[in-house]
Amino acid sequence: MTGRMVEAVDSLLNKMEVGHDGNRKEGGCSVAAKTHPDAKMHAVSWMGSHNMQVKEVPRPMVTDPADVLLRVTNTAICGSDLHLYVHGMPSMKSGDVLGHEFMGVVEEVGDAVTKVKRGDRVLVAFDIACGHCFFCNHGYQSSCDSTNPSKVQEAMYGQAAGGFFGYSHLTGGYQGGQADFVRVPFGDVNCLKVPDGLADHDALFLTDILPTAWHANEMGEVHEGDVVAIWGAGPVGILAAHCAQHRGARRVIMIDSVQDRLDFVKRKLPGVETLNFKEKETVSALREMTANEPGRGPDVVIEAAGFHYSKSWLHAIEMKLQLETDTADMLNEMITAVRKGGRISIVGVYIGFVNHLNIGAFMEKQLTMRGGQTPVQRYWPTLLHKVQAGELVPSMVITHVLPLEQAPKGYKIFNEKSDGCIKVVLQPGATEAVTLPPAGRT
Ligand code: NAD
Ligand code: ZN
Repeated sequence: MTGRMVEAVDSLLNKMEVGHDGNRKEGGCSVAAKTHPDAKMHAVSWMGSHNMQVKEVPRPMVTDPADVLLRVTNTAICGSDLHLYVHGMPSMKSGDVLGHEFMGVVEEVGDAVTKVKRGDRVLVAFDIACGHCFFCNHGYQSSCDSTNPSKVQEAMYGQAAGGFFGYSHLTGGYQGGQADFVRVPFGDVNCLKVPDGLADHDALFLTDILPTAWHANEMGEVHEGDVVAIWGAGPVGILAAHCAQHRGARRVIMIDSVQDRLDFVKRKLPGVETLNFKEKETVSALREMTANEPGRGPDVVIEAAGFHYSKSWLHAIEMKLQLETDTADMLNEMITAVRKGGRISIVGVYIGFVNHLNIGAFMEKQLTMRGGQTPVQRYWPTLLHKVQAGELVPSMVITHVLPLEQAPKGYKIFNEKSDGCIKVVLQPGATEAVTLPPAGRT
């Protein structure tokens, strides 16, 4: 989505008065946290397009009885935050506190919290689940019916998805965790205790990108012997490739135009094949690479890039002219490249409408397409075990560990894909960047 479109939607949102702090849904929680009368904290605040600033803001407090107040020790910048950074998402307000991948130490709990206590080391799911609605009970925690009061989402999607931390007022307007402290609603449901012996950075990505990479594989039903092609060699795509290999995929092909990232993948995940679409057009290159496969195409294609990465002039122009909100470039490549009867899995974020979707090919080729924000809590039991056993090593994507104060630099290099940046971790209270051991950079 481009600037003018975002502004138009923003003005509509203001008219509809949605996402106002203090809103809550039946069975849900307060959206706005009570704030401490005196204590302040530092937090990454969205101040407009390409303008993140670390500001002093009021410290949140336990607001509802089911809340946990967390002192954040590590928080990461996600590709989803880049949609906000480039101002692709509507309904952002100046000063919104960002961040949905975070862990820390429990500072305080509300009266109704029973599973965690002060002093526990926990990580938090990016999706805020109430734990008791129909959708939470069926493993669709990211579609929780109680935590997102946005009426615009309801109007656009028919039903609103769940509330998310620090991810615009379309997803509730909750404060995020790129901060010294964060309030976690429904703490018993949304916090996972980190077992002793598991290092912070090994655990951190259970908050989002490891479950998301797994979700991509689950939706694509990746299993032994499959050929899997992945659009986007960012942290999500890389971990999706890692999970695909773990599940026995016979071939994994990663597509991107950033050679640095493709080289990183080759070093970290031996056996993964890479395709630079600046050198060779994606669909014809895939056709050549899979010419001898029984289905003459990948069995599974995974979208791990997202709606703002338009590739063709057609979609770039149509997005600029407000004729569509999202690009169909990658979706159409996936539909044409995948073999007949193949599976399409979308974890890259899409928010609205696309033109020129090749629905004919989708229907005639007997394809299946699934997508979704990840129900993180659903995968915790499976994935915590795999991380503890060393079968999955999500920390492999970390290239930068910076003090929270350096968040603006972190956003810049992550967005530009400069300085070899794959994944940035921010540490509140730290004063210096951490120099990673060679394994972290090689
Ligand atoms: P990222 O922006 O670092 O990675 C995206 C990669 O896609 C980049 O390397 C970019 O160069 C590449 N790309 C751009 N256009 C492409 C094209 N035409 N073909 C192939 N590759 C292309 O972000 P990330 O952190 O890896 O996240 C990826 C996506 O996953 C984002 O959209 C993010 O919002 C989404 N996400 C979804 C969930 C979920 O629950 N579904 C959770 C986390 C992240
Ligand atoms: Zn994320």
